[in-house]
Amino acid sequence: MSDSTHDALLARVRDGDLRLHELEDHADAETAAAVRRQVVESRSGADLDAVGDYGFDAAAAAPNIDNMIGGVAVPLGVAGPVAVDGGAFAGDRYLPLATTEGALVASVNRGCSVVDAAGGATARVTKSGMTRAPVFRVADVAEAEALVEWVRANEPSLREAAEATTSHGTLLGVTPYVVGNNVYFRFRFDTKDAMGMNMVTIATRAACAVVEDATDATLVALSGNLCSDKKPAAINAVEGRGRSVTADVEIPREVVEDRLHTTPEAIAEINTRKNHVGAAKAGSLGFNAHVANVVAAMFLATGQDEAQVVEGANAITTAETTADGDLYVSVSLASLEVGTVGGGTKLPTQAAGLDVLGVRGGGDPPGTNADALAEAIAVGALAGELSLLAALGSRHLASAHEALGR
Ligand code: NAP
Repeated sequence: MSDSTHDALLARVRDGDLRLHELEDHADAETAAAVRRQVVESRSGADLDAVGDYGFDAAAAAPNIDNMIGGVAVPLGVAGPVAVDGGAFAGDRYLPLATTEGALVASVNRGCSVVDAAGGATARVTKSGMTRAPVFRVADVAEAEALVEWVRANEPSLREAAEATTSHGTLLGVTPYVVGNNVYFRFRFDTKDAMGMNMVTIATRAACAVVEDATDATLVALSGNLCSDKKPAAINAVEGRGRSVTADVEIPREVVEDRLHTTPEAIAEINTRKNHVGAAKAGSLGFNAHVANVVAAMFLATGQDEAQVVEGANAITTAETTADGDLYVSVSLASLEVGTVGGGTKLPTQAAGLDVLGVRGGGDPPGTNADALAEAIAVGALAGELSLLAALGSRHLASAHEALGR
């Protein structure tokens, strides 16, 4: 678009004739972003040249961002390669991590090399299902009981309505919860390779319409917070949400001693006293050292919804000495919500991150790419846990941060 159009639009915004979010009605997405940038620059005094130097197509990013002014660049590193024997993810792979935390990639990389030296990690998705839990208002507890019975008896018609809205999602089940005159139904769907939050919200809305048509219950909110999305919640830790995924490894004693400069006993003791007892005393939902670090960095690198790091870091790390004196370590992430289609996965740098793992787009059969991504993140988390526990065991944590992070 020409400079004169740009200037004319800028003048209209400054005169109050046009609001920032209306710019796309009068210009292409890139020009709209440039005009907005200039408005923000003049109001704030910030220099937004770097923000304007983004490497994706502004129009293609329209489903992902509103009032766009540019992009934020986050450094991207890799850890590995690491050998993985997964249910869906297999081979020797690099793990992409986007972060600004110095020493993080180095730490995960060290964990990967130890996992590799031990013959690789095993990973499996043990449960899968994205949830949405609407809340209905009823007159009293008798009506609540009747509503729950009606939904139980009519689940096939709810399934039919829900599944008519998607060609990939299938309803796995509906779990009722009653609190006084509030009735919650936690709908759980197989969303294949999609993280699924939009998919299940649309599908659940269709099922709720069937409930409202046939009963006296009133839908108060399509999300009643028992889902539970983007809030720390025990229900996700217990029941799972998205993918529940576990990775483990058995490391020979000599590898622990030579590579990590500590012992299986020291790592097992630190894990118990820190990750279990300390976390319990703190009332923590996560019983791990820093799983959030790896989840966040791999979410950013692969176009996941970054707010879901809240439940993605809901993980338990175990460590024990085996009968042979070796070290067994596992990480179980209860509610890892990931997708390889939809959301931010199409943006070019994020799609490249998925390509590094070999999991971009729909899997064959559907669902296997998202399973593989979950397993890759679990292995990254395992490597991160191992490395940090070892750094504590060898008392190298502070010196490693001094050397690498500053
Ligand atoms: P989406 O981008 O809305 O849609 C993904 C769609 O891709 C699916 O619905 C499906 O269409 C299609 N698809 C094609 N191949 C597929 C395959 N192999 N497996 C599964 N689906 C396939 O993605 P979403 O995962 O449902 O939602 C993610 C977005 O939701 C993110 O941007 C996130 O930020 C946002 N979000 C929404 C809410 C909310 O409450 N709405 C909450 C949190 C986050 P069909 O369904 O037609 O088959």
